[in-house]
Amino acid sequence: MKTYKFKLYNHKRNRYLKRTINAAASIYNHCLALHKRYYRMFGKHLNKFQLMKHLAKLRNKNSYWQRVGSQAVQDICDRIDRSYKLFFKHHSKGVKPPSFCQSKKYKSFTLKQAGYQLIGNKIRIGKQTFGYSKSRVIEGKIKTLTVKRVPSGDMYIFIVTDAVSESIGVVTGKIAGFDFGLKTFLTNSNGKDIESPLFLLQAKKQLKKLSQQLSSKKLGSNNWNKARINLAKLHERVTNLRRDWFWKLSHKLCDEYDVLCFETLNLRGMQKLWGRKIGDLAFGTFLEILQTVAAMKGKQVVSIGQWFASSKLCSNCSHKHSGLQLRDREWTCLNCGTHHDRDKNAAINIQREGVSSLRLDTVRLPKEASVA
Ligand SMILES: [Zn+2]
Repeated sequence: MKTYKFKLYNHKRNRYLKRTINAAASIYNHCLALHKRYYRMFGKHLNKFQLMKHLAKLRNKNSYWQRVGSQAVQDICDRIDRSYKLFFKHHSKGVKPPSFCQSKKYKSFTLKQAGYQLIGNKIRIGKQTFGYSKSRVIEGKIKTLTVKRVPSGDMYIFIVTDAVSESIGVVTGKIAGFDFGLKTFLTNSNGKDIESPLFLLQAKKQLKKLSQQLSSKKLGSNNWNKARINLAKLHERVTNLRRDWFWKLSHKLCDEYDVLCFETLNLRGMQKLWGRKIGDLAFGTFLEILQTVAAMKGKQVVSIGQWFASSKLCSNCSHKHSGLQLRDREWTCLNCGTHHDRDKNAAINIQREGVSSLRLDTVRLPKEASVA
């Protein structure tokens, strides 16, 4: 699968798409209300197909809803269904049910095979044609097309195709363990640590300035709106820089190693520990991207259970140092006397745990290595 992202040229006509997104939001909220009412009345989860049938009837009478294509409606039902299933399965772990969304904050709608047409660097959606900056050639058959609005008001289209990526990873026979951190983004068991370029921190001054500008303007005024857009644009730029860095790092790591071991993220715990900076580091996003790249290159990402005491075990003698405090960046093993750097020791333990949890036949080793 390949995903393409293109920017739609700003044009008055884009309002048509924004209105479609608002209509999609209204459908989404209606579906959610139905789900909730159904559950209250019958104590059961509302079946997706029942819901779709019901919506089809309603749409016949509602011209505002008709601007949302039937496939986009189906996608909304799928989306809600997925998040409810996730909620029912994992609510004990703190997963929340889907909640109502202001139409302003609703971001996108998705079409599958119908409802649009690509003509050169133009796209026809419904009865309107939009220009977009076609920066790449689209390969493969299109699976989905998503129209997305970002807070600054710009519009993007995301196209997912079935094209197989040609990049196939080189087998290196190397396995590494990584520990996420606040100061060092990834501590590598093999010693090549990766520092985090804190894009947000660099942009922090500017962000502060722009948010001050925003708060000094009269809420809802024209100048307020301009300031809001400037701030949103800076946030978008930071997000893009970060994603770009994640992609590059993922490719680099997947080229270097065959198996990459990580501890399962306990984001809530990390948030408590480190506060809001965690959003800047975006570990979750990084792992998603890494998994995509690993799948592309035939590499493996292994996650270690979050209750594995990666920090407290001595990587030399496996003695558990129960007295280790969070503020201890370095410590000495009471059993064997080895002096440890906290993160480095954790990375080594994660790597070991990862190796032992692997089924060996799933690891592809280079020929030389398997002979030796
Ligand atoms: Zn020890």
